[in-house]
Amino acid sequence: MARHTDAVCKLCRREGEKLFLKGERCLSPKCAIERRPYPPGEHGRQAQFQRKVSDYGLQLRAKQKARRIYGVMERQFRRYFREAERRRGLTGLNLLILLESRLDNVVYRLGFASSRPQGRQWVRHGHIEVNGRRVNIPSYLVEPGDVVAVRPSSRQKPAFKELAQDLEHRPAPDWLSRDDMALTARVLGAPERKDLDVTIDEQLIVEYYSR
Ligand code: SF4
Repeated sequence: MARHTDAVCKLCRREGEKLFLKGERCLSPKCAIERRPYPPGEHGRQAQFQRKVSDYGLQLRAKQKARRIYGVMERQFRRYFREAERRRGLTGLNLLILLESRLDNVVYRLGFASSRPQGRQWVRHGHIEVNGRRVNIPSYLVEPGDVVAVRPSSRQKPAFKELAQDLEHRPAPDWLSRDDMALTARVLGAPERKDLDVTIDEQLIVEYYSR
């Protein structure tokens, strides 16, 4: 399965904001955006002052930012967009709902992982189950009524052992009902726009694909 393997902090610096791809480090002074708040590359420092961004550039950046936040490759992102178009309602919102419903994102949003990449890792390594069955596909889309949980055999592993206490400080979004002690959660419904913790202008993405 294709995935991004370059230094992820470069992605944040390229987008000019924190994308929270490294868990605790993102909140510490070690965050690369804090230390080098300009685009990566030889001319990054000058580029931040010189650039006049076109409409196309803004649309492209919005699309890239969404891809990078959710860790989705180009071809799959385009498939999400086509599916969002096919569904009833606003295409941009449909797209964000699809991305937000990915299992790796849900694991992160529940606080079971400190970042979306770690959520992806927990899923890939078989620590997560949906409706009592192990699911190791990060792009699996959860649906209302699904029960997402850390697998019983994984709960004693160091990564999950003390997790219940930490969850007190990480409220789950309204569309997910979490049982902190059991490390399980039920999907109550589809996420709404207000539930998303991302700064993405979805309309720009619609314009990008409508050119
Ligand atoms: Fe982005 Fe986190 Fe790296 Fe900071 S530490 S640049 S927020 S991935």
